[in-house]
Amino acid sequence: MTLRLLDSRTEQKVPFEPIGGGPVGLYVCGVTPYDTGHLGHAFTNLSFDVLHRYLEYLGYQVTYVQNLTDVDDDILRKARELGEDYLELGNRHLTTFLAEMAALNWLPPEHLTRATKHIPQMQELIRQLVASGNAYVADRHVYYSIASRPQFGELSHLPREAMLPIANERGNVPDMPGKRDPLDFVLWQPSAPDEPSWESPWGPGRPGWHVECSAMSMAYLGPQFEIHGGGQDLMFPHHEAEIAQSEAATGRRPFVAYWLHAGMLTVRGEKMSKSLGNLVLVRELLGTYSGDAIRLYLVSHHYRDEIDFDEADLEASSRQAALLRRACRVAEELEPLAPSLADPAALDPTIAGHRARFLAAMDDDLYTPAALPELHALAALCTREAPRDLVVQAGWMVRELGARVLGLRLATVPGAMEMAEQPEGAIVA
Ligand SMILES: [Zn+2]
Repeated sequence: MTLRLLDSRTEQKVPFEPIGGGPVGLYVCGVTPYDTGHLGHAFTNLSFDVLHRYLEYLGYQVTYVQNLTDVDDDILRKARELGEDYLELGNRHLTTFLAEMAALNWLPPEHLTRATKHIPQMQELIRQLVASGNAYVADRHVYYSIASRPQFGELSHLPREAMLPIANERGNVPDMPGKRDPLDFVLWQPSAPDEPSWESPWGPGRPGWHVECSAMSMAYLGPQFEIHGGGQDLMFPHHEAEIAQSEAATGRRPFVAYWLHAGMLTVRGEKMSKSLGNLVLVRELLGTYSGDAIRLYLVSHHYRDEIDFDEADLEASSRQAALLRRACRVAEELEPLAPSLADPAALDPTIAGHRARFLAAMDDDLYTPAALPELHALAALCTREAPRDLVVQAGWMVRELGARVLGLRLATVPGAMEMAEQPEGAIVA
């Protein structure tokens, strides 16, 4: 079996093949650190964490890059409302975000990149787009001209008439000065007097949101790389814009081999929003549930699914996490050192079967809802009555698949379970 991933652009589930000989490039659009993290953000991040872990389990080296949108319209608006410096606001929320994600056992990216540290790379990209005729300067703004891009819409598959309302809902301002088409998106714009500003060939100002991710992903992963992820709501216009400007600037196609999008989280069928007061906050859940319980709840859904949050399901996941931990503990009491589980021929046939079906589910576009029952079946084998060798193999297999692949902690030392570890290895570039 080989890993197959569903690519949003081609809408095909295809075998995963790295582009070159180097590490697999994985870029995931990260947070704009101006507000408290909710469970929807955690679902996106943990979905790609499972992908990251599974790729490593399969033997790939992965260069994982995630950005921090520390300058854009939203964070500047919030900073103005609070009367706080936008960088201080961003740092405050970054610290909280990293602590919450560490509690969920998220492997931090190798490069956690700040937009404000990559302005020269963004300007270089904009300069190339202006030079190639894909962008134009108007009234101290630089816009990407979507008329220069016949393929615009190839990722989201949206008809032209459906694009504008969605873009407007997600930050597009159709009547900005000098725009030739209301869908043309901002690459560079003058800053308001109280906003940060950088010198540029087009006048002092700041970058548009979309160009940030193109510049940062290519700075670390090159002009073409394997996997780009993000929440479903970023597919249009954000990722559509990223493809357009990256391919136009480099002349290389495709910019990204596999586009993966995580589903959205709703509460009683409604989108989570601050105005509706229905945000499910990670911080609050961590007051009641372990990181493992929350992670198990999230991975019980396929990463592309829309999740309608139900606390009863989270409670059930909490009980299941306890059963998985118990299986690990029973096996460790019998055999404190991990036995070799690498050779399927040396495994009990029942255990080998569960392992094979678990991995087959993961190979099917990370179909965790079918992988989890195999994990639970392995845990159920760990009874006091069962033969010793079977229990040892089953319990240690729960740890191998549950911890290495799904990222559960499965801590068997009392007290360690609830501990939120300090983030390690996060390099903020
Ligand atoms: Zn992005």
